Amino acid sequence: MQNNHKEYDVVVVGGGISGLAVAYGLCKNNEKLRLAIIDSPTELNKASRTNVGLLWCQSKFLDVPDFARWGFLSCKHFPELLQELKEISKIEIPVNFTGGLIPTLGEAEFTQRGDYIQKLKTALGAYPGSMISRSELESKLPKIKFGEEVTGAAWCEEDGVVEPLLLFRAYRSALKKMGATILEDSMVYDVQAKDNNAYKVMTSRGEITCERLVLAAGLANRRFASFAFNDSDNATNLDMPHNLHDNLYDVSYNHGGLPIFADKGQVLLTERLPFVMPIPLLGCTQTFGGTVIIGFKHETRGHDATVVPEAVSQEGAWALRVWPELAQKRIIRSWPGLRVMPNDKVAIYSHLPNHPHVTVINTHSAVTLAAVHSRYLPEYIMGGDLHECAENMTLKRFGFAC
Ligand SMILES: Cc1cc2nc3c(=O)[nH]c(=O)nc-3n(C[C@H](O)[C@H](O)[C@H](O)COP(=O)(O)OP(=O)(O)OC[C@H]3O[C@@H](n4cnc5c(N)ncnc54)[C@H](O)[C@@H]3O)c2cc1C
Repeated sequence: MQNNHKEYDVVVVGGGISGLAVAYGLCKNNEKLRLAIIDSPTELNKASRTNVGLLWCQSKFLDVPDFARWGFLSCKHFPELLQELKEISKIEIPVNFTGGLIPTLGEAEFTQRGDYIQKLKTALGAYPGSMISRSELESKLPKIKFGEEVTGAAWCEEDGVVEPLLLFRAYRSALKKMGATILEDSMVYDVQAKDNNAYKVMTSRGEITCERLVLAAGLANRRFASFAFNDSDNATNLDMPHNLHDNLYDVSYNHGGLPIFADKGQVLLTERLPFVMPIPLLGCTQTFGGTVIIGFKHETRGHDATVVPEAVSQEGAWALRVWPELAQKRIIRSWPGLRVMPNDKVAIYSHLPNHPHVTVINTHSAVTLAAVHSRYLPEYIMGGDLHECAENMTLKRFGFAC
């Protein structure tokens, strides 16, 4: 390094699953890299600590086949990632690479989902999944007595489920062993460009400088990236996305900055059951500890991160139609989480306008995508190219020059 005055070569703002995944890849590629991750849990940015851990590629992204391929690629690399993390961290991460199931209620839903999968098969050329009948579903999960309305399921052999908090912990442990600095409980207040090749990060522990910056702070990215959006020439096409026209109360949307919004999820957790779900079921997934997490909805409620009983009760009612036995089980917890959602629902991996040394990462499904984040994003962060599946996922698609 020529610029010895900088404290770090790379600073990652945000130690959620996205920040940890890219930090791990960066350290793996260059053991001499001076890298710091700065993280402080905040009320709004808890998705990495509140998710289900599904590795889920199926039935998604018909309009963006490359994004679907990106997810499948991540699932393919997951076994190798977990093996590496285990070797370095000594943490065994429970995982099932058994495929995944989406139950359908009624014939219309079965047909509708089947049509979607057929279109995906055409769009992708190959698709490792299909619809299965109720009896096939029963033979895959023989210990579950399904509700009468269940007609079958969408099945994908590449899906699975990982214990998300242990994945999180293994990344952190591995990073420390690899020499990365994790500044925990360090609140980032602001980031500023010193010039186009050096950045200042203002934190509760004082000022930190670096040559390259990764913004992986979830919804807080919008605030931290704002220094690069002040020049209105950078934004040429920031139309309101269609799906938000009815959601103008969404205070998280803004016209001039990073095009992301808060996509709320809220879940219910049942008491422990004997383990009956070797293959994960979307919407009521049994955890490795035996509890069942119920819920998969997406809501646009701005930054409201409270549990709304009316909303979670709908999730519960749906789950009982799928798996009536759950009615006998106690609900022991409920929690909300705000997913970070790019306005067009496709991941954003991008340098900021006029700042090639700053990379912003914002996506939903960041657990599923952790393996490709670790493997392919570091090269881009350090000045190389994005993987071909992700090359159109920069901010250029929103009209920014970057
Ligand atoms: C209910 C629910 C279920 C989900 N289930 C799945 C699933 O099954 N599979 C899947 O792939 N995805 C799932 N997701 C989505 C997944 O959790 C997110 O995509 C992922 O957590 C995003 O990770 P992130 O690191 O980008 O952002 P975040 O999780 O938001 O992490 C951002 C990090 O930045 C830190 N930070 C923010 N501001 C500051 C600041 N000022 N100073 C310091 N640190 C800061 C935060 O503390 C946090 O650690 C689910 C999400 C929810 C809400």
